[in-house]
Order: sequence, then structure tokens, then C-alpha cells
Amino acid sequence: MNRLIFATNNDHKLREIRKILDGHYHIDGLKDIGFREEIAETSHTLEGNAILKARYIQKKFNTDCFADDTGLEIEALSGKPGVHSARYAGIECISENNINKVLKEMQGVKNRKARFRTVIALIKAGEEYLFEGTIKGNIISKKRGTGGFGYDPVFIPDGDTRTFAEMPLEEKNQVSHRAVAIKKLVDFLNDHK
Ligand code: IMP
Repeated sequence: MNRLIFATNNDHKLREIRKILDGHYHIDGLKDIGFREEIAETSHTLEGNAILKARYIQKKFNTDCFADDTGLEIEALSGKPGVHSARYAGIECISENNINKVLKEMQGVKNRKARFRTVIALIKAGEEYLFEGTIKGNIISKKRGTGGFGYDPVFIPDGDTRTFAEMPLEEKNQVSHRAVAIKKLVDFLNDHK
């Protein structure tokens, strides 16, 4: 079977993609290959960070691999928190603090448009490929819902009235930015076995 490394330590993401590629690709995460370092995400773009993680692992293990990076891009904040989404309120910050910072910056702002964007970088047979998934929506002014993670309680996807945190996780995972990017990656891999 074809083998690929997914440069992530996130078990949830690994399970999600293994389920889709079952029988076609064997996917190892970073823990599976004994890699325990933190790869510094030093780029100013999601694309740059996804590529640098994929290149680092590809070089070190000399094997095909892919990596992802995601951000929430708010129109009225010129695309922030964007690439800084995980640590918007500081290095050790938790989602609660990140959300509070966003809500403060959005106080009184009429334009609530935002999007989640995921970029996946794949290195296969020495070639680099990028896949992108976005979902558009709006930032509300007060948190709603307890599901999901990150900025889910303040994001309502277009065409819905619920925040991501008010949706069953299965439903969110079918329509999310990550799902869209993963689908593009999977379609590519299925065509290039
Ligand atoms: P990562 O690149 O997947 O680790 O995502 C970076 C950061 O973006 C996370 O720490 C979250 O703050 C935010 N984020 C990514 N995906 C989601 C999502 O599906 N819902 C809410 N926030 C997300």
C-alpha cells in the first residue's frame, strides 16, 4: 500500500483522514514515526507554514508527506487573526482568550464577514502541491454553543443560523474548511496512486 506521513500530532485529524483513505493509503502521524519535536511555524502565511512543515518532515525522513495550517480570517480586521489564530491572545493562550480578543476588536463593527481557511501542502515524488478549503460566514457578538473548538462558538457559516459550536460535530466536519481541503487532497491522491 502507498504510505504517507501526515505532519501532525492531532489524533482527531489523523482519524478523520485515515477513515477516508482506508485501503488506499497508509497514513502515519508524527507520533507514529517517533518525531516529537515542535516545528516552528515561522511563516506569515498559512501556505508558508503548511509547506515548511511538509518540507521539514519530507527532508528528515525522505518520504512523501503532507501538512496543514488553518486560520480564521475576518474581513474587517484585514484578515486577522489569520495565521496567528492559535495564539492570537498570546503564546500560552486558550480559545476563550482568543475569542474574547476578537469580540473586543469587533465591538461596534458592522461588517461581520469572516472565513475559515485551511491549506494543505503535499510533497509527493519530490513535487509540491497545495489544496485549499474555505468556508464563509459571520462573527456574532456573543458566544453560542459548547461543541467544536477554537472560534466555533462565534462563527455562523453562511446559510445556517447556528454557530459551528451549536452543530453536531459530525455535521460540522462534513462541511468545514478542513473537510473541503481534505476532499481535494483525497481526490488528488486517488487519481495519483
Ligand atoms: P490548526 O492549524 O488546525 O492547528 O488551527 C490553528 C488555529 O485555528 C486553532 O488553534 C484554532 O484556534 C483555529 N481553528 C482551526 N480550525 C478551526 C475550526 O474548525 N473551528 C474553530 N477554530 C479553528
